[in-house]
Amino acid sequence: DSLAEKAEEEERLSRRLRDSQETIASLKSQPQQIKYIIKTVEVESSKAKQALCETQSRNQYLQEQVGMQRQVLKEMEQQLQSSQKTAAQLRAQIVMYEAELERAHGQMLEEMQAMEDEKNRAIEEAFSRAQVEMKAVHENLAGVRTNLLTLQPALRTLTNDYNSLKRQVRDFPLLLQETLRSARSEIGQAIEEVNSTNQELLRKYRRELQLRKKCHNELVRLKGNIRVFGRVRPITKEDGEGAEAANAVTFDPDDDAVLHLMHKGKHVSFELDKVFPPQATQEDVFQEVQALVTSCIDGYNVCIFAYGQTGAGKTYTMEGTRANPGINQRALQLLFAEVRSKAADWDYAITVSVAEIYNEALRDLLGKAPQEKLEIKLCPDGSGQLYVPGLTEFRVQSVEDINKVRPASGSCWQAGRQGKAALKLVGCGPDAYPGGGGFFFGSLPPGKLNLVDLAGSERVGRSGAEGGRLREAQYINKSLSALGDVIYALRSRQGHVPFRNSKLTYLLQDSLSGDSKTLMVVQVSPAEKNTSETLCSLKFAERVRSVELGPVSRKAELATWPSQEQLE
Ligand code: ADP
Ligand code: MG
Repeated sequence: DSLAEKAEEEERLSRRLRDSQETIASLKSQPQQIKYIIKTVEVESSKAKQALCETQSRNQYLQEQVGMQRQVLKEMEQQLQSSQKTAAQLRAQIVMYEAELERAHGQMLEEMQAMEDEKNRAIEEAFSRAQVEMKAVHENLAGVRTNLLTLQPALRTLTNDYNSLKRQVRDFPLLLQETLRSARSEIGQAIEEVNSTNQELLRKYRRELQLRKKCHNELVRLKGNIRVFGRVRPITKEDGEGAEAANAVTFDPDDDAVLHLMHKGKHVSFELDKVFPPQATQEDVFQEVQALVTSCIDGYNVCIFAYGQTGAGKTYTMEGTRANPGINQRALQLLFAEVRSKAADWDYAITVSVAEIYNEALRDLLGKAPQEKLEIKLCPDGSGQLYVPGLTEFRVQSVEDINKVRPASGSCWQAGRQGKAALKLVGCGPDAYPGGGGFFFGSLPPGKLNLVDLAGSERVGRSGAEGGRLREAQYINKSLSALGDVIYALRSRQGHVPFRNSKLTYLLQDSLSGDSKTLMVVQVSPAEKNTSETLCSLKFAERVRSVELGPVSRKAELATWPSQEQLE
């Protein structure tokens, strides 16, 4: 603004100058006047000149001012330019932002559109689904309606039924009473019929029972209380391998008393009272023996022998193993259990002796001097009973006591030595009678249970044995033959029974004769290499078993039991 003012002032001053100059000029042209004027001008001119000077200085100052202002203007223009540049930049940024904004907006619009579409689609879908469901509901409703229509007649018939049932229920007690009356009379009749049938059956049963008892008694009489079992041991590692260890014994699946042996290509069958196959357990065997054992409590004398060649399982059957005990231990355990159950009425004493017969010499295996030979003597009381003076008798009361009764030389108990019979005598009988009770058993003699592990039955003598071995074999043969003879004589009820032919039969005399029971367990090996011995053992078994009451005339010729050689 001051610049403009100065410029205007300048303009005014220069105009005035011009006017003054024009006035001068016109005054010159008018000499009179001019002279005056010149005079005035001259007077005034100095003044003008001074004013001009002043004006010029002032002009000068103003021009400087203008220059300064121009400078300022220039700077301002520069500032303006930079401002413009900044503005342009800002504008460009604004444009950019605007474009960005535009894009975001577009995007937002697009998204909104998509959401809108989605919403519309969902609504449409829901709508169509609802329509479908609605349709189904409508249909259901229609079905229900028709059902309802059809149910109505059913309901009607049900109501009818119900009504008629109600009537029937009302009448039921009467009907029931009537029916009960008739049923009662029918049942009574039936019961009467059954009763009479029962009576008839009972009568028949009693008759059968008597008959059976008679038959059984007859059978026992015929068999003479001597039974023979066979037991076949399994093939063991000791039998070796190959053909020698092949199995030669088979069984009859339907008859547990029959056994077949394949010997030298020929099939031989034997029938005993019972045959135990290799898989039979110690329990299985004892199961069959146990009745015999308990009968010794009833006063019977019982003998159980294990017969067979060495290695056929005699000791296994009698003594067994620690884990799997045989008849000996099981018998004692059973006796203990039986005695305990009868202890309320009776007092029993069980005593145990263990003896061995080797080369016809009897030795006490529980005594302090096992080498001492013992004698068998007749009781001096005239009862005809035999006894062995000096034979140790241990009273045992429990299973634990049995273990204390092991003989001094343990191996003897195991009957490991060849050619001897290990005997175990178990005396069992009423020791005292209950005082004051009504029971009195009289002088029931004690029962005796003899468990005998016989010597090996193999024919050692024939295979060229010499000296002691030969003598031993001979004794064994004699002893076993004597046993066979005695059993044979007993079964065929001969008047004379040759008990005295061997120490064994003599010792067991009162346990083999009279009211006694004997079981012979014939042990056989199933191995091919043993078939000759197996054949002999089984023949012996069958002979022992099949002895029957022969005609009197035959008794003489059969008086002697065939020797071991003859058996073969
Ligand atoms: P023995 O007394 O007749 O000479 P063992 O009783 O000593 O014969 O038996 C000979 C071998 O066969 C023994 O090792 C014995 O354990 C085994 N043995 C015998 N019988 C059976 C069996 N039934 N089950 C298993 N092993 C047996
Ligand atoms: Mg043995």
